Amino acid sequence: MDPAFAVLLLSAIAAAASTVGVLPLVRRPHVPLVAIGWAHALAGGAMLGAAFVLMTATPNRSPDVAALGALLGIAFVRLTHMASGTEDLDLDRLDETSGMYGYRVLLVNALHSAFEGVAIGAAVMVDLPFGVFVALAMGVHNVPEATALSAVLRAHGVRLRHAAGLAFVSNVPQILMAVATVALIRTEPSLLPWALGFAFGAMVYLVLAEHLPESYRKAGYTTIALVTIVAMGIVVLMGGGRGG
Ligand SMILES: [Zn+2]
Repeated sequence: MDPAFAVLLLSAIAAAASTVGVLPLVRRPHVPLVAIGWAHALAGGAMLGAAFVLMTATPNRSPDVAALGALLGIAFVRLTHMASGTEDLDLDRLDETSGMYGYRVLLVNALHSAFEGVAIGAAVMVDLPFGVFVALAMGVHNVPEATALSAVLRAHGVRLRHAAGLAFVSNVPQILMAVATVALIRTEPSLLPWALGFAFGAMVYLVLAEHLPESYRKAGYTTIALVTIVAMGIVVLMGGGRGG
């Protein structure tokens, strides 16, 4: 299959999976805060797992390049947070009713998904089965991430179907960046270890800066650590190591 078509299809499926995230809100519009914490922990754990398998897929002769890519990924996340004024945004303020707050939460989610798009694109360029695995992992992770987002949107009076639509829209940057990453690496194959490292650094940083602080605030340290580790472990075990 042509990598450009494959990445478009895979990232679109991953983004569409986010709409499933509104289902827990069908019967109860107000989700307990502890459940939002678990949703963040599940999403964060899956991201850590995906980041790990991406790093193990780095070609053997370029760990230094991947490390530099990771630094670049971290710097880019930090810069986008600073440029958009969202570095200290609390993502789960259900009592905050201003429209500006809802807009900023959507913006954070859209930026977040763009970095995950780089992960899907780079994985497809490693090989197709690996691309399918990472896209599926990101798709599954999009579900609890969308649950956390929809809980905020619903608390702001957004209708369920609109929340599903917005969850998908916030993941459109994932599709765009996945396609752009494939296009870039096809033009310049030496960028693959850079892209793998970039996605690793960006995703680990996003977990540490966004998902985990939110989780810890909503639920206890021990349960969140356990949920995160189990989610990460499942992705790592299913993805396997590529190095060596
Ligand atoms: Zn995520």
